[in-house]
Amino acid sequence: MKRIGLFLLILLLLPFGCKTESAHSAAGFACDTVVTITAYAPQKTVDETLKLCADYEALLSKTIVGSDVWNLNRANGDPVEVNPETADLLRLAIEIGERSGGAFDVTIAPLSGMWDFSANEPVVPDQAALQEAAKRVDYRNIVVEGNTVTLKNGAEIDLGGIAKGYIADRVADYLREQGVTSACINMGGNVVTIGTKPDGSPWSIGVRDPNGTPEQSEEVLKLSDATVVTSGNYERFFEIDGVRYHHILDPKTGMPVANGLASVTIVGTSSALCDALSTACFVLGEEGSKKLLAGYGIHAIFLYTDGTRSAIPSE
Ligand code: ADP
Ligand code: MG
Repeated sequence: MKRIGLFLLILLLLPFGCKTESAHSAAGFACDTVVTITAYAPQKTVDETLKLCADYEALLSKTIVGSDVWNLNRANGDPVEVNPETADLLRLAIEIGERSGGAFDVTIAPLSGMWDFSANEPVVPDQAALQEAAKRVDYRNIVVEGNTVTLKNGAEIDLGGIAKGYIADRVADYLREQGVTSACINMGGNVVTIGTKPDGSPWSIGVRDPNGTPEQSEEVLKLSDATVVTSGNYERFFEIDGVRYHHILDPKTGMPVANGLASVTIVGTSSALCDALSTACFVLGEEGSKKLLAGYGIHAIFLYTDGTRSAIPSE
């Protein structure tokens, strides 16, 4: 009788003992960047996340025909009905626009559209043309009412500074809904971790050394249930006469931000928020970022082109 009881107990516990799936990975390309997802989940579940990335890209990309952003940028100021998620993301983008004093501005499209960082023979846009385009950059020209969005005064949207973080959050949500308790999502520098590794140890997330090779880490963060987002001057850039022109732009001038920073890394829980903050803090610089970061209670690491490092709050 005792043995039967023990047998039943083992049978009962078996599913828990076998709970840990082995790790499966999927890699793809979305939002102009490499996406890698590793999860302790069936391969099928991991593969589904790539499809999810593509679906969100089809909603938020400014270059995919028929996306919400595509439709908005071609509406000539008429109201456009968008997906509720696009409306939510725009509300967050506007909030960070406000709180950063316009350093983060998703109406950057007229300016970002003038730069081609992957051209064979890249050129610096004409200053007068940049000045003219900068007049149309102002997040206050985005009016969101429910799911209806209107762009005023010739505004155009580019979600490049926030979309990858948002999508990484949605991938994490999807995995959690599937019961996944251990995963690491990397969307081109936007990392989201779910739980710890199955052995209980935290995930190791390298912060790239901006003055080293892509594989070299300046430091390794040990994290669980957190997101790490880096904006760097090495992601998209070209050089002319020793000057580096990169893709994080000052919304006032349309020029790449040149304040000595090489990268800003933000650690938090919402990857969309951290993505936007990494761009905002890059534009604001360390001193200018203090209030914004304190408002969100969020941690940031500033790495400079001269090899120095500092953090807010200071360590
Ligand atoms: P990455 O794309 O390497 O993760 P960021 O998150 O900093 O880097 O995003 C940079 C992208 O954000 C640019 O390619 C452009 O699309 C957009 N962008 C550039 N400057 C700004 C800005 N000041 N505010 C909002 N978005 C910006
Ligand atoms: Mg960003």
